[in-house]
Amino acid sequence: MKRDPIDAFWRRKTLQELTPQEWESLCDGCGKCCLNKVIDDDTDDLYYTEVRCKLLDNKTCQCKQYQNRFDYVPDCVTITPENVAELDWLPNTCAYRRLYFGEDLPNWHYLIAGDKRKMHKKQKSVQGKTVCETGVKELQDHIVIWPLMD
Ligand code: SF4
Ligand code: SF4
Repeated sequence: MKRDPIDAFWRRKTLQELTPQEWESLCDGCGKCCLNKVIDDDTDDLYYTEVRCKLLDNKTCQCKQYQNRFDYVPDCVTITPENVAELDWLPNTCAYRRLYFGEDLPNWHYLIAGDKRKMHKKQKSVQGKTVCETGVKELQDHIVIWPLMD
């Protein structure tokens, strides 16, 4: 079912005004933020890789231990209204970054499209495209550009 109310909460509230539940619901579950990145020591340029965190499910794109994830991945990042401005490594498609920059959610976002099938179908998630970090030796051999494409 498609839903796109003009007065949807993410359109009438600032990021700081959102309830914790509203904030959490903005995440489309694309999984791109759970990919490993590499930074060029000389240029500081950041590159995405196809290498997923060991806790990310390649099919559902969900964290397998979301509530307890810091027990397994201490450097996982919690995105908040306070730090979203600094997290410039998030993909352009990320709902939090989009709203921070005053953009609307994309039409494939599940809060508009009704479910997550459109996101996966339009290749906006990492579904089926990743390899697990536990089997990877050199991250730089797995650099990809698709996570940064809108
Ligand atoms: S990139 Fe943004 S929208 Fe996608 S899973 Fe990560 S936090 Fe959620
Ligand atoms: S611990 Fe979970 S949320 Fe954090 S990067 Fe890994 S899969 Fe993503």
